[in-house]
Amino acid sequence: ALRETEAELTRVSRLTTMGEFAASIAHEVNQPLTAITNNGSACLRLHANHNLDPEVLQRALEEIVADSTRASAVISRIRAFIKKTPAEKTLVNINEVIQEVLALAGHELQKNKILVEQQLTRALPLVRADRVQLQQVVLNLIMNGVEAMTAVTDRPRILRVQSKINESGDVLIAIHDSGTGLGSEADHLFTPFFTTKPHGMGMGLPISRSVIEGHGGQLWAEPNISNGAVFSFTLPVANGSSS
Ligand code: ADP
Repeated sequence: ALRETEAELTRVSRLTTMGEFAASIAHEVNQPLTAITNNGSACLRLHANHNLDPEVLQRALEEIVADSTRASAVISRIRAFIKKTPAEKTLVNINEVIQEVLALAGHELQKNKILVEQQLTRALPLVRADRVQLQQVVLNLIMNGVEAMTAVTDRPRILRVQSKINESGDVLIAIHDSGTGLGSEADHLFTPFFTTKPHGMGMGLPISRSVIEGHGGQLWAEPNISNGAVFSFTLPVANGSSS
């Protein structure tokens, strides 16, 4: 059982891993780009002063070529990495995904004294989706909600998870929390690497949004009515699936 839980955690922590992965890519690509810029600027400066020795130019150009090759090698590695994990789309009952994630996060929810309210619409139509990717999105939104509520001590910490069909006939999932809310940073939440957490990576929301958009849906944030935030996403109903 322990090994199973471990495997499950490895799967759902892929989002975090991807965040770290993205940060290291940024670093690895940035280094050769900086070197290219420096070499280019130095040559421009020397050239402007009619002081660009052909040998210096030769060496600078060689370094520029070597650095661009390094940068494109990093990009090729990313491509190879992405190809290895193709989305595996099946017919998915989103209520089951929510319940799996709530079970998985159970310990964190209890530890932080979070009250969970489930408002799941029964007999919801199925969606065509990569189950693991959806688990990751839901887990990420729930854990963000939990983290936003840990600072709250003067009111109940309530996590409300809703599923329903919206006016356009899409499946809509909404995760309400009574946490610190979105504040003035609301515009930046989905910007890669934006984080207000000391050990945050700021990749959870941008990755979650791209997963949902990759499924033909949308993901957005709004303030909750009294306190906290609401993160919602839609998914189109699978062809031929109705309740
Ligand atoms: P990370 O969790 O590593 O910071 P995310 O992309 O998941 O990365 O979130 C980015 C930022 O968005 C967080 O640092 C936080 O400031 C804000 N945020 C996300 N979820 C919530 C929420 N439920 N309530 C308030 N702020 C949130």
